[in-house]
Amino acid sequence: MRSVIYGPVSSWRLGRSLGIDLLSTRGKTCSFDCVYCQLGRTTNQLAERREFISIEELEKALDSIRGIGADYATFSGVGEPTLASNLGQAIELTRATLHLPIAVLTNSSLMPRDDVRQALAQADLVVAKVDAPTEKLFHKINRPYVECAFDDILQAIQVFRKNYSGKLALQMMFIEANMDYAAEMAKLAKELSPDEIQINTPLRPCSVQPLSPEEIAIIRRQFTGLSGVVTVYEAKRPDVAPLDLEATLRRRPRL
Ligand code: SF4
Repeated sequence: MRSVIYGPVSSWRLGRSLGIDLLSTRGKTCSFDCVYCQLGRTTNQLAERREFISIEELEKALDSIRGIGADYATFSGVGEPTLASNLGQAIELTRATLHLPIAVLTNSSLMPRDDVRQALAQADLVVAKVDAPTEKLFHKINRPYVECAFDDILQAIQVFRKNYSGKLALQMMFIEANMDYAAEMAKLAKELSPDEIQINTPLRPCSVQPLSPEEIAIIRRQFTGLSGVVTVYEAKRPDVAPLDLEATLRRRPRL
């Protein structure tokens, strides 16, 4: 049987986080190929939703860890979780089985779809990625495979924000390519009105250098006046240990 559950792992954003990978594919399955991705290049380029792990398979995996303690059960893993067409059902089942708050980490690419926003609305916390203030920079940093325009994604986050009763966090990853756009990013964050703004830089090994604490502090100043701003360097529990994809997969319990 494929491994669906991993951790709990320590996360600066989520505390003790029990990972659920509804994709569980060999190699990364994503609608983006971000230049800073810690998982390497995207091997399975996908923009359409489909079922990877059945609900029956997830049910068996969850049954074997009933009673486990964690701050969140987090839908993440080796790729983009909203590509799983049964995400909504999986959230419902996980909450009913583990009685834990549910988080989803998404790259936001499929949020223009009604069915994706409906599935995400079932989570207690949605962390949505926004790394650029313009279409051009979006393509440079996130290298998307999705057809929809960058503005459609921003509009979809806004629609989601209006109707969502849970906690919405924006994750903004800063690297050299967008470090001079902090004022535009802060303006965007203000418009999207999330509960939390996570200012990040890639501290795990990847092909892009992280920004220094001083550079992140300068970026942080552009967000003055906005509430719920947190940076990776200020966080008490930085999850900066190198993450190796194969090691991550090996650590998962064989269920
Ligand atoms: S969205 Fe996440 S998993 Fe996909 S390429 Fe970007 S960083 Fe990697």
